[in-house]
Order: sequence, then C-alpha cells, then structure tokens
Amino acid sequence: MPFDERSFDNPFLKEKPISFSSKAEVIPPNFAKKVEDFLFDKVQIILEQLRDGNISSKDVSVYTGLSGIALMLMKLQNSGILKNRLSENLHDVAFKITKHNDSRKSSACTFLCGDPGSMFVKVLAADEVKKGQRGDLKRVIDAGEVLTRQGGKIYDEYLYGRAGYLGCLVFMGKHFPDFKDEALMDQICKVMIESGISGAKHNRLKQPMYYEWHESEYVGGAHGYAGIFYYLLKLKHLPSVQQVLQKELRDALYWFVSLQTSSGNYPSSIGSQSDKLVHWCHGAPSAVFTLIEAYKVYGDEKFKEAAINCGECGWKRGFLKKGFGICHGTAGNAYTFIALYQLTRDLSHLHRAVCFAQLCVDMDRVEHRTADRPYSLFEGLAGTMYFLIDMMDVENATFPCYQFH
Ligand SMILES: [Zn+2]
Repeated sequence: MPFDERSFDNPFLKEKPISFSSKAEVIPPNFAKKVEDFLFDKVQIILEQLRDGNISSKDVSVYTGLSGIALMLMKLQNSGILKNRLSENLHDVAFKITKHNDSRKSSACTFLCGDPGSMFVKVLAADEVKKGQRGDLKRVIDAGEVLTRQGGKIYDEYLYGRAGYLGCLVFMGKHFPDFKDEALMDQICKVMIESGISGAKHNRLKQPMYYEWHESEYVGGAHGYAGIFYYLLKLKHLPSVQQVLQKELRDALYWFVSLQTSSGNYPSSIGSQSDKLVHWCHGAPSAVFTLIEAYKVYGDEKFKEAAINCGECGWKRGFLKKGFGICHGTAGNAYTFIALYQLTRDLSHLHRAVCFAQLCVDMDRVEHRTADRPYSLFEGLAGTMYFLIDMMDVENATFPCYQFH
C-alpha cells in the first residue's frame, strides 16, 4: 500500500509558506473561540454518553476506558476554558466514573492499560473533590515488586511493560510528592537496562540493547525502543541510568537515530521494509520525543535534525484517515509540532500545530474511521479534546500520560 493511502492530503501544504514574527501572528483571531465551542459541544456529548450508560464501565483503563475520559474532564475543568458555560462540575463527574476502579482486575501493570494507572486516576479524581483516599497509592507502589525481577513474560515497553509502570510512578510522584519512590524507579530502570543489554548479547547483535514484544522488535512509543529509551533518558539522574548513560545507552541512541527512513519516519519494527504508519504508537510522532531528549542529553545536532525530520514527516503525512485520536490519529501527531516548537521556539512548528488543531475542530466535516472506543482518551474524542485544551496553553503542553517536563 503506498503510504499516502493512510493519510489525507494536508490542505495547508498548498498554502504559500509564511514567516511569522510573533506568536500572535500564528494564532488566527477566532481560534480560541472555535476551540472553546468545539470543547463545549463535545463535552456535552461525552457527558450524555456517560449518563446514558453508553460508555462501558467494564473498561476502566486510561488508554480506552473511563480513567482516560476522567483525565480529560479534570484537565478541562482545571483549564477554566468553559468556566462560564458549564453547569456541571467535571471533577464530580471524574470522581463518579472512577470511584469503583479498584473493583476490577487487569493483568497489565502499566499507566495506560493496567491497574496502577486506573488506581492512580481514581485517587487523583477523589483528591480534586476532597474525598482523599491516598492509601490506594500504596497499592500502585506494591504492584511494582514483581517488575523488579527478571524473567517471566514481563516486557519492557510502554503500553504493557516496565516503562509503562515507570510512567505511572513518574506521574504519581508529580501529583503526590509524598509517594514519589525514586528507589523503586531506579530498580525498575536497572532491570530494564539489564534486560536490554543481555538481550543484545544473547542474540549476538551489534546494537547495545535489544527489546522485544511478542517476538517482534518494535520501534515506536507504545511497544518499542522509542518509549523505553525516552523513559531511560528522562530518568537519567537515577544511579542505574547514570551507569550506562555515556556508553550503552548513548550507543543505543546513535543506533536508534540511524533507523530513520528517508521520509523522516521510523519503521514499526526492525526488519520491516514498509514505511506506512505515522502514529504515536508506531512511527515518527513518538520517535520525536526520544530524539529531542537525546539531543538535550548528548548535545549532538544529529538528534535535533532527526527530530525536525520527524516533524516534516508528520506535516506531510500526519493528517490521518484513521481519525483524530492521539495514539494513531491527527491530534496525537500534532504533539510532534508542539514538542519541536518548545525545543526550537521556531514559530513555523507552532503554526503546524495550530493547523492540525483546526483540522481537529473541523473533524465532523471529514469522513474518517470511527475508533472502536470512540470517546476514549487514546483512540477517540477525549484525546482530541485533550489536545485542543493543550493548544490553549501550548507552552506547558505534553503528550498525555507519556511525555513529561
Ligand atoms: Zn495506536
């Protein structure tokens, strides 16, 4: 399949390139109002679906379930964007839909798909309405014990593995500093590093670290190298990461940068010759965060150039027929431009983010695929809304439940 069959033509590509001299010039005068109206309309839809019981209460995950929707609702409430228009307090709704999160068990151990994530969101929502039950956070920490041991069928990737548990610990530590457990984070990083190095030796590879998920060597943020390396780089102050920062991890990042395709994208897995997916889960839109971090840590322009190439790829091919979500959708791809703007302060990247936000606001005018979980944070409408809320405070925006400052 030629790659362009997965994306719409970006209508803004036809426009003459403009050079901007101020942030105000980049953002159209009616932009904030359009975003506000979109958020108002769509939050009514989500609230109605929740009231009518059309969103399954069985899935409590951040990725496709109620916890992710709760995170978006809390973000919208905290943003103040609709403060004069909403009759309902969205913190109350978030509390209501997450308060039974501990009654179901998932086998996953991560922020996005497992009990640690839904437990953390439950406590967060309870805290917002002053019904604190922080003791439950201890259960998130207890869940890490099994991950500090090698072996078994525990993987290292973000969606279902150790990196995804680290994500939960990081966000929990930010919101609840009393529960920040750096010793546990260090132990998890140590096991991830050992697993990567021994995997490379075992497979007699030249690359310094090897990771797989279900026997494939994935590259992207969800299952592969991009997510694992991003977290190791972000946690570089921990003793276990310090030990490999200037040798194994550094060499691994140089190997990672070499994987970029001529179009600026990243393959979904090692050995794959196709260049089809421009998603956060697979492709340049998650590699960009890893490359930016590598540039900050090692200072080599090569990483920055590769990150900018990810932006070019997203700009040409990131307006996806799959929809407007964040895992594999137009909104998620727009975080590439936000990250590049935050790094370089180059207003052309901000312009691209604004263009993608405009495409999202007009989503109902475009025939696109509907996600299996159409209201969820990672596949559906809650994710599109999360991105647009971030566009109202772009300096502090981060890809939800993954990227952090
Ligand atoms: Zn995806």
